[in-house]
Amino acid sequence: MNRICVFCGSSPGTRPEYLQAAEALGRECVRRDLGLVYGGASVGLMGRLAETVLTSGGNVIGVIPSSLVEREVALSDLSDLRVVGSMHERKALMAELSDGFIALPGGLGTIEEFFEVLTWTQLGIHEKPCGLLNVSGYFDSLVEFLDHAVEQQFIRPENRSMVLVDKDPRPLLDMFESYEQPTFDKAEWILSMSNRIGA
Ligand code: AMP
Repeated sequence: MNRICVFCGSSPGTRPEYLQAAEALGRECVRRDLGLVYGGASVGLMGRLAETVLTSGGNVIGVIPSSLVEREVALSDLSDLRVVGSMHERKALMAELSDGFIALPGGLGTIEEFFEVLTWTQLGIHEKPCGLLNVSGYFDSLVEFLDHAVEQQFIRPENRSMVLVDKDPRPLLDMFESYEQPTFDKAEWILSMSNRIGA
């Protein structure tokens, strides 16, 4: 792995642990010589993460749509800031540049971005690991929901297992290093489900 993409809040959240986790993840990426790909902003957890990587001597690529350069205050210290035309281009370029994806606590943008790359894994568009950094239990109810969706047979256990979860960056990135994509054909599964309903 050369680069990790991190999706995270454009807000800092309420607990100091969120900002601390952004710093810890940034330092761990540098320790492993992993470059950071992120949304290019200077605000919230996004800004703290990028600043930590830069001040620790690491590499950062920011990818931001032109419409957000002012709203999210693009980080001026970035040597590699790629300004793109749309949100879609942003996500596509972030995915192309990265070898794995981590979500730190965040809001709708973070959740949307994480689940999009996860569905790309599910569809076999790429085979890159996806993980949640579950700081202070922030993602507990989301993980519970995924288990509920498995129980209700809307998510295959194989696909649920693609969501790597840990509260600390080190074990999470260790799982990334040894990640193997579960083999499973979603189209075949949908067909077998429809046959079952029709039977
Ligand atoms: P948030 O988690 O809502 O604070 O947003 C984190 C990042 O996600 C910000 O850079 C947002 O611009 C970005 N974002 C918000 N909505 C979307 C979307 N639909 N697609 C891609 N990125 C988004």
